[in-house]
Amino acid sequence: MKQINHIIGGEEVASTSGRTSPVYNPATGEITAHVGLATVEEVDRAVAVASEAFQSWRATSLATRTAVMFRFRDLVDKHKGDIAALLTAEHGKVLSDSLGEVQRGLENIEYACGIAELLKGEFSQQASTEIDVYSVRQPLGVVAGITPFNFPSMVPMWMFPNAIATGNTFILKPSEKNPSVNTLAAELLEKAGLPAGVFNIVQGDKVAVDRLLEHPDVAAVSFVGSTPIARYIYTKGTEIGKRVQALGGAKNHMVVLPDADIGLAADAAVSAAYGSAGERCMAISVVVAVGASADPLVAAIEERIPGLVVGAGTDASSQMGPLITREHRDRVASFVENAPGEGATVVIDGREPTFEGDGFYIAPSLIDNVAPGMACYDQEIFGPVLTVARVDTYEEAIGMISENRWGNGTAIFTRDGGAARRFQIDVDAGMVGINVPVPVPVAYYSFGGWGESLFGTSHAYGPEGIAFYTKAKVITSRWPDPATSTIDLGFPQNV
Ligand code: NAD
Repeated sequence: MKQINHIIGGEEVASTSGRTSPVYNPATGEITAHVGLATVEEVDRAVAVASEAFQSWRATSLATRTAVMFRFRDLVDKHKGDIAALLTAEHGKVLSDSLGEVQRGLENIEYACGIAELLKGEFSQQASTEIDVYSVRQPLGVVAGITPFNFPSMVPMWMFPNAIATGNTFILKPSEKNPSVNTLAAELLEKAGLPAGVFNIVQGDKVAVDRLLEHPDVAAVSFVGSTPIARYIYTKGTEIGKRVQALGGAKNHMVVLPDADIGLAADAAVSAAYGSAGERCMAISVVVAVGASADPLVAAIEERIPGLVVGAGTDASSQMGPLITREHRDRVASFVENAPGEGATVVIDGREPTFEGDGFYIAPSLIDNVAPGMACYDQEIFGPVLTVARVDTYEEAIGMISENRWGNGTAIFTRDGGAARRFQIDVDAGMVGINVPVPVPVAYYSFGGWGESLFGTSHAYGPEGIAFYTKAKVITSRWPDPATSTIDLGFPQNV
């Protein structure tokens, strides 16, 4: 049985904890590997190695760091098929979706290739007489990334390319459910010429996470995962004095106005709800049908669902794969089971189709007439269940989104430019789509939600990622003639 180990200082290191976690092929239900979970001492060793590597990496020229990033970019591009295959094997998502994930990760590496431009400071000559002022951004030191199962390759790439390019050293604690893809990333970084110890992986669970949060030599923590853990990471990390960005869960609403093209809106809702089996933090999970849009929209979505092909991610005809674990599949099914008792209408029950074998499959479900107060509305389902809430007016739709505790992504479908413009001003969410159901920002913007979708003020990747992984410094400089020097106890004046 394959054993998945840590990567510390460029070496594979097996855990000595005796504790392991199984990795499944969700399409078959088989255990394909065991991941060794770190001890506190193993985390400490990774931090010590990363601290030592920081001393030389921070002094490495921008030209060299850029060259490493460019080579890494080319290697990821060359190996995207291998990365996607690993993703499909351990996550379950269909191969085309895995390739899409690699592509979005790649775009973050490309952004980091521009590090020389991104780190340019400011310079003000003669800010005061004979005085020049300039600003620089310097790396923090050892930084850690703790990442979720649903984007095992892309989410780490939201973090480490920018963290490393800015001169930090990095410790990744990937999801224990599907960590293999990052071991390949470590190999590619090494091939790209990244010195040993700059990028490390610690496999683990809460023990490893808590040690990373507590370790005095870890300067900052980036987290992406569920809301309860994001809140915990942010609270504990900041209490200890660390810089923390913690991205949490979501419940994304897609508003459909009565004037929208119903076919286009239905295609978008189906794609955004069932893509990656709904295991996306930017998946659409609630369609808010305004006024007369509701009946034709529900009918159009219902008509499309039976055509979706659910099957193994390795099968080219599959459009949707299995869920990550049996327990998660059963939890998703429970929302469908309980919906009628709460007053909602199950239009399509994804528990009905049966699948051969022990894969963690469930087909797409559609639940109509949902409302706040029902579990299928109040909780993050994170599976292929699309719910529909019917409201009479635009104002009600906006009110519903504002009152929801999450605020990751949202979208509006309309042909009315004025309504769309008003929506993007009014709505309480961090990422807004106008006729775009999954508005994940491109790599040169930053990603982050509002409400309980983000703890802290810093969004992930893009310009905010660069700011997060660096400290600003402003230098005021003067080269006076000693002959003119005097004592002056007054507060320095700008003249
Ligand atoms: P999770 O919160 O269970 O796990 C995320 C990470 O935290 C993993 O590395 C895990 O090992 C670690 N962890 C789990 N329990 C812990 C504990 N008690 N103490 C310390 N660490 C712990 O999330 P998941 O199930 O892997 O991922 C799905 C969730 O992530 C969903 O809620 C989804 O919305 C969210 N997500 C959010 C974004 C975003 O950008 N906002 C992106 C992707 C996923």
